[in-house]
Amino acid sequence: MRKLREVFKLDSFRPNQLEAILATLSGKDVFVLMPTGGGKSLCYQLPGVCEDGTSRGVTIVVSPLIALMVDQVQHLLRKGVDAILFNSDQGQDVSREARSRLMSRGSKPKLVYVTPEKLHRSEDFRSILARLYTNGELARFVIDEAHCVSTWGRDFRESYQDLDRLRVQYPKTPIMALTATANEQVMMDVIDRLGIQGCTLLKQSFNRPNLFYDVRPKSPKTVLQEIYDFINQKHRGQTGIIYCLSRNKCEEVAKTLREQYKLRARHYHAHLSVEDKNRTQASWQSGECQIIVATIAFGMGIDIRFVIHHSLPKSLDAYYQETGRAGRDGQPATCLLFYTYADTKILFKLIQESETSSAEEKKRQEDAVRAVVQYCSNESDCRRVQVLRHFNQAFDSKDCRKRCNNCADGATYIEEDATEMAAKAI
Ligand code: ADP
Ligand code: MG
Ligand code: ZN
Repeated sequence: MRKLREVFKLDSFRPNQLEAILATLSGKDVFVLMPTGGGKSLCYQLPGVCEDGTSRGVTIVVSPLIALMVDQVQHLLRKGVDAILFNSDQGQDVSREARSRLMSRGSKPKLVYVTPEKLHRSEDFRSILARLYTNGELARFVIDEAHCVSTWGRDFRESYQDLDRLRVQYPKTPIMALTATANEQVMMDVIDRLGIQGCTLLKQSFNRPNLFYDVRPKSPKTVLQEIYDFINQKHRGQTGIIYCLSRNKCEEVAKTLREQYKLRARHYHAHLSVEDKNRTQASWQSGECQIIVATIAFGMGIDIRFVIHHSLPKSLDAYYQETGRAGRDGQPATCLLFYTYADTKILFKLIQESETSSAEEKKRQEDAVRAVVQYCSNESDCRRVQVLRHFNQAFDSKDCRKRCNNCADGATYIEEDATEMAAKAI
């Protein structure tokens, strides 16, 4: 988690990233099926930079496209991660330097990108691998675009087929295979060929069927009354989180809900003392506190039935992550976002004032806010289709089953048989 922030400058994991990371760190083989743009790289880049008891040494990444590897290596170097690239048509010098670094006793690159051709054909590279292996410095093999291993797959590659040797030659080194395009047949074929039959399989969809997504226009004067009515009518006595942008707002909202509306609400933000945080956490866990008004991630341990965005989330990633805290038990839950364009000004200001992010990062963050604005302003397309499109996952709006305000045509929340919902969520 610390590495996620420090090295990759990200706030939270996307679905299955943490699962994949923990599995490979514990030495298991892993197969990750995730849409393009879903975030597969992090699944091996983060463990690659982790140094703990179980995971030491070099991560070898096999990837079919040199251009993509060059991109990734440059990206990693900019983040201060020691990564190198081996390919067949590189100048001899680069190769010799890289080779000596990998063979020496000194600090080694954390990630080594290599084409499958190089991996098999280069005697030199094979001897480096063998040496790392005997020294216990081979952390894992990563097979990106793993569908290329299968003759059933779309882009079968001759040189990928020989990857079946890895398990034979380096039986103790865990393998992680990742792809965006594999049906059941291709997946089983890849698993078979790589010899990772007992692997952890991560292939769940990003869709959260039990969440109802709702976006409403926000009027600063009435938003608290609306929040109260919503909780009172739909979630009386149930627990939930309200997200705000600033710590002042978050204190103010909690206070009003308490004093004016008699709700058991408390604020939670980064500037609270450790004691205050613990106290709030404890009262939430005991059920004494019903609603947390927060600016930041908050320890869970309790089933959350609703998540309200009092102000705009800062990206669709953040939105997905924050709404995703609701309904973890598979039972129906509601995600309600109050949108006004005025809130974007606050976000843009926060981004501009940040002293730690580069111009490039600021631009990215602003684009992320614009994507949220677009999401909120789009009152016709299914919310699920929109959210999942952000992760490049195709979704048929029919499968929403009227569980978003755009599909429900103004109808209020559909009351569902809870057990039926729970069964589907599994
Ligand atoms: P894939 O290989 O699955 O197609 P990438 O690993 O290239 O996808 O990631 C796609 C984009 O998603 C990148 O811009 C990356 O920075 C971003 N991304 C990955 N993980 C996260 C995360 N946890 N939070 C926010 N953005 C993420
Ligand atoms: Mg990728
Ligand atoms: Zn919908």
